[in-house]
Amino acid sequence: MLIPSSANYDVAIIGAGPAGTACALALRHRGLRVALLDKAQFPRDKVCGDAVPGHALKALRQLDPSFAEGLWQLQPLDAVRQSRLVAPNGDSLWMRWKLPSFNSPRETFDAALLALVQAHSTTEILENTGLKTLSIDADHVRLTTSAGAEITCQLVIGCDGANSVVRRQLLPAPLDRAHHCAGVRAYFEDIAGAKAGLTEYFFTKDYLQGYLWIFPVGRGLYNVGLGMLSETVARHKVDLKQLLPQLLATHPALAGRFASARQHGGIQGFGLPLGGGRTVSVSGQRFLLCGDAASLIDPIQGHGIDTAMQSGILAAAQVLACFEKQDFAAGFMKQYDAQVAEKISRKLAKSYRLMRFLSNKPWLVNAGVRLARVPGLKPWVQKVIG
Ligand SMILES: Cc1cc2nc3c(=O)[nH]c(=O)nc-3n(C[C@H](O)[C@H](O)[C@H](O)COP(=O)(O)OP(=O)(O)OC[C@H]3O[C@@H](n4cnc5c(N)ncnc54)[C@H](O)[C@@H]3O)c2cc1C
Repeated sequence: MLIPSSANYDVAIIGAGPAGTACALALRHRGLRVALLDKAQFPRDKVCGDAVPGHALKALRQLDPSFAEGLWQLQPLDAVRQSRLVAPNGDSLWMRWKLPSFNSPRETFDAALLALVQAHSTTEILENTGLKTLSIDADHVRLTTSAGAEITCQLVIGCDGANSVVRRQLLPAPLDRAHHCAGVRAYFEDIAGAKAGLTEYFFTKDYLQGYLWIFPVGRGLYNVGLGMLSETVARHKVDLKQLLPQLLATHPALAGRFASARQHGGIQGFGLPLGGGRTVSVSGQRFLLCGDAASLIDPIQGHGIDTAMQSGILAAAQVLACFEKQDFAAGFMKQYDAQVAEKISRKLAKSYRLMRFLSNKPWLVNAGVRLARVPGLKPWVQKVIG
């Protein structure tokens, strides 16, 4: 949809990834005039491991069970049944997760979320519309787009990802490498020993603040990637795009498996703003931040699709409270901060502490994997890691 040179809405959601679409879906049928802006045209790619956590589907089911059910029909898709964790010493831990989940390329998954917004709400979807600047006045927010159009609204929701323009302009802060990961991924087929339904995680003793993964995404394609704490990347001057193929060829548990594998496209990288850091605000007068814009990625596993959707839904509840009370002040928005802290960040803080604790103890990771083999202890180990 094209916007005229100026337009007015109750709510403008910036970014139509998991956070923005969940927020738009949670605001459906509420009588608000909502715009959902994205700088991209969908379907669009997003660098990711493509593993949709069970809690993301659970969040969607809470909005409407049919939303989540429909997504299981996506193609390509791989229903995850089992995971294998490979410790630095090569020992494996085999696990089954409680909540059903699947992997699907983000190009497919995110387009399906946006299609749900289109089908089930009156949200005005504005693709190819990048947010350039925003300013907050006493009685409204003024946005300008990359095409020079002007939008005014009562509230703006920043769901614009790791490099959020909303966050950078309204809550600027330097990059905190201790709470940020760098990640790269590429697609492969014909990996020896890889199979549908099985996600594999590999830990190395040198880089415990991250891991290498092989995730099937359907139709014989695998998302293969590597994530690492940005502090480590900077300190050791690691080039992840070089290290990934190097590890695929030399890691004891991987060597030989990629000998006949075919790579589709290049290796691409993107940042992961981790949660669990010092308490930072995720709101202010007339604005809220969600998902990666609010730094809500799990520090141990690196998933953030679920917390993006959960925070998008929490933001929608705050939006409704704001319009009901006609209160858009920073003080009133603190209710949202409290909800995010209680429902999301507390758990991320625990994950962060565990990640730091294990980061220089490969022997402990080895011991944990061995311990999980003792009958009865596996559920406990599984609970600790995720
Ligand atoms: C290498 C890597 C692997 C990962 N693996 C996983 C995984 O397997 N599972 C998992 O759950 N999570 C994973 N994550 C994290 C996950 O990708 C994010 O947490 C998730 O995408 C956050 O959703 P979001 O909606 O907040 O942001 P995004 O998905 O980034 O969406 C933001 C949207 O905003 C738009 N946008 C950006 N700037 C503007 C602007 N100025 N104006 C308008 N629109 C704008 C973008 O086009 C985009 O559509 C991974 C991340 C990386 C980098």
